[in-house]
Amino acid sequence: MHEGSITTQVVKNVLQEANKRNAKKVVEVQLVIGKLTFLNPEQVRFWYEILTKDTIMKGSRLIIEESEGVVKCPKCGYEGDFKYVDDPAMHVPTPTLNCPKCGGTVEMVGGKDCLIKNIKMMI
Ligand SMILES: [Zn+2]
Repeated sequence: MHEGSITTQVVKNVLQEANKRNAKKVVEVQLVIGKLTFLNPEQVRFWYEILTKDTIMKGSRLIIEESEGVVKCPKCGYEGDFKYVDDPAMHVPTPTLNCPKCGGTVEMVGGKDCLIKNIKMMI
C-alpha cells in the first residue's frame, strides 16, 4: 500500500507542525504530488480520511495538486516534460526515458516528490 504509507507520513508531519504551533484544529492541507510518484489521489484521500479520524485533522479539507514530471538530458541539455508514448497494451500514454530532442537517456529531476505545500490551522 504505497498510498497508505505516504499518507501516514503526511498526516504525521502535519500533526507535528500543528503541535509546534499549539493548533486546536487543522482546517486545510494542501499537497503537491509529483506525477512520477504514481500515487493515486483518490487513494490518498481515502487514507487521509481514515488516518485523520481521531486527530485534530478530522474533517479538514485536503487539496491535491499534481506536478508534472521533469527530465533533464545530460547530452543536449534538454529540460522539460517527459516524452510520452502510447502503450497499446495499457491504452494510456506512458513516460519514456528518451530525450525528445536527441533520443539520449534523460534523468528525472522533478515530479518524484510528495510535498506539503500549505497547512491552514486554527490556533
Ligand atoms: Zn537530449
